[in-house]
Amino acid sequence: MKKEFAVIGLGRFGGSICRALSEEGMEVLAIDIDEDKVNEFANIASHAVVADTTDEAVLKSLGIRNFDHVIVAIGDNIQASILTTLMLKELGVKHITVKAQNDYHEKVLSKIGADYIVHPERDMGKRIAHHIISNNVLDYLELSDEHSIVEIAANGNIAGHSIMELDIRAKYGINIVAIKRNKEIIVSPQANEVIQSGDILIVIGADTDINRFEKKALGES
Ligand code: ATP
Repeated sequence: MKKEFAVIGLGRFGGSICRALSEEGMEVLAIDIDEDKVNEFANIASHAVVADTTDEAVLKSLGIRNFDHVIVAIGDNIQASILTTLMLKELGVKHITVKAQNDYHEKVLSKIGADYIVHPERDMGKRIAHHIISNNVLDYLELSDEHSIVEIAANGNIAGHSIMELDIRAKYGINIVAIKRNKEIIVSPQANEVIQSGDILIVIGADTDINRFEKKALGES
C-alpha cells in the first residue's frame, strides 16, 4: 500500500517537501491555515485543505492519525508548531517530523516526543560554511558532533595515485566510500583504484581526520 503523508504549513520548507513527495508519486495531504497557500498546492498535492491544526477537533476530522508520517513545517508561530505536534502525538501519529526554529523550540519538541527534528536553516548554514572555508569541500553531511560524510574534490596533489599508494585509511583514519567520476559512481572503490583529476571523493570519518586529509593530502586551495 502507498504511504500516506500530511504536510502542515506550506511555507518554503513545507511547500518544498510537499512538492518533492508529490513528484515521487506519494499520497500527500497539504494543510495550511492560509487559503492562498492551500490553493497554490491544490494541483500539486493529492488533497489540499484549509485548517488550523492547533484545533484538535480539526485534526481528528482530517483523520490525521491514519497518516504514516506527518511533517509539521510551521515556522514562525512556535506556539502553533508545539501545540500541533503535541496533539499529533496524543492522537497516536506514528512518525512526526517537525521543523525547529531555534534551539529552545527543538528542546521542547524533543521533550514532547517529535520523532525527527530538522533545522534546515542551521544545517544549510553549516554546509555552506564548510564549502566557503575549503574550496575542496563540495558538500557535507553531519553524522554526529564529530563525524561527517564529505564530498571532496580530488585535486592535482592526489590525482594519478591509487588509494593504496595514498594509504588514506592508515594515514588519516578516513574511508573513501565512493568516487564520483563524470556521471559514474564507483561505490566502495578497490585499493588499486587510481584517483583521477576531477574525481569527487565521498569520504566518511571523524571531522578532525577529514580536515587533516584536506590540508595535508590536498593542500589548501
Ligand atoms: P519557511 O521558512 O518554510 O518559508 P515561512 O516563514 O514561510 O516558513 P511560516 O509563516 O513560518 O512560514 O509558517 C509556514 C506555514 O505554516 C505558513 O504558510 C502558515 O500559514 C502556516 N501555519 C501557521 N500556523 C498554522 C496553523 N495553526 N495551522 C496550519 N497552518 C499554519
